[in-house]
Amino acid sequence: MKRAASALEAALSRLDAAQLRRARTTVERCAASDGHALTVAGGRELIDFSSNDYLGLARHPALAEAMSACAGRSGAGSGAAHLVTGHGTEHARLEEELAAFTGRERALLFSTGYMANLAVMDALAGRGERVLLDRLCHASLIDGARLSGATLKRYGHADADSAACLLAADPRHTALIATDGVFSMDGDLAPLPALARAARAQDAWLVVDDAHGLGVLGAGGRGVLEHFGLGADQVPVLVGTLGKAFGSFGAFVAGAAELIEFLIQKARTYIYTTALPQPVAAATRTALALAQKETWRRERVAALVARFRAAARAAGVPLSPSTTPIQPVVLGSPAAALAAQRALQEAGLWVVAMRPPTVPAGSARLRVTLSAAHTEAQVDALVEQLERASARARSA
Ligand code: PMP
Repeated sequence: MKRAASALEAALSRLDAAQLRRARTTVERCAASDGHALTVAGGRELIDFSSNDYLGLARHPALAEAMSACAGRSGAGSGAAHLVTGHGTEHARLEEELAAFTGRERALLFSTGYMANLAVMDALAGRGERVLLDRLCHASLIDGARLSGATLKRYGHADADSAACLLAADPRHTALIATDGVFSMDGDLAPLPALARAARAQDAWLVVDDAHGLGVLGAGGRGVLEHFGLGADQVPVLVGTLGKAFGSFGAFVAGAAELIEFLIQKARTYIYTTALPQPVAAATRTALALAQKETWRRERVAALVARFRAAARAAGVPLSPSTTPIQPVVLGSPAAALAAQRALQEAGLWVVAMRPPTVPAGSARLRVTLSAAHTEAQVDALVEQLERASARARSA
């Protein structure tokens, strides 16, 4: 594209015409105590049903206290990359605690999940090799595969047979299979036991990005691997994010000592970037301890999911098969999803419409997410509004 304002304006107009232009809303104030309420522009209070704060930890005072106490000791910024002078004791301790939590030899912190996924894909696959990805996996796994220079093949969503077929077509050159553990827009689970068997049989890596499962699934919150009873031998590369259930920010890769050492040497998104601020790591350590100790948070969000699904089913709201806190209501067109978003906002509920290319064409949706911080009454109010909005979408 040449440098021309008119070309940018034309591209933006095309997005407008297709109802695909995205817009931000500025949150002016967040209140933790009254069930996930927040104030958006204009002083309007809305209940947030779109964040990934599944355990209700993002606004927990203990996280803010850990963050400010650490900032008092070590300042706001880390000042350099981990391999220069940016690696501090909070990072080191958090990595040890994450390794223990996930039952792996080591863990390596990254600034974001996006960067962690670029790192593993780029480091473990290369030109002349193939990588296999689920058709609905997260954009960062796709971008990591592109960056690696390997040939990218997509298998059918959550279809382990389709992955095994692709693998069997050229096992020698297939370096890895990568998938979300819990799919971010659908809330369903990857068929990990079968994927693990297929990958193991051909000595391919299996990379699982459990951004939406860690903290939430499994009795101990160890995510989708605990849910399926899988260990490091079946899933050698585990990616986790810290800005979702753990309510903080950042990400990690957990695995065998030699894998982590290899990433430290090779992962460009680890080497060439400033270390995560230590106060963020301090807040995450507090969150990790709370997430493990306060099992009621997991139980509560699971109970709210069950309540939501039972009420939505009774009300005829179109439900997906997900049993996780991600409960998409698929409405079809971007226009229908946006209209539903507006109607819910009028009723004081904030549920953001997800449109292509974030989701496949024809499956625009309201991505409802539930949190331990919600109240039963809020969930009931949500279902009531979804019933109206989905009936309107059907008759439009
Ligand atoms: N993986 C998945 C499945 C995600 O949903 C996300 C965030 N949307 C990421 C990775 C990226 O994580 P982060 O926000 O920490 O960059």
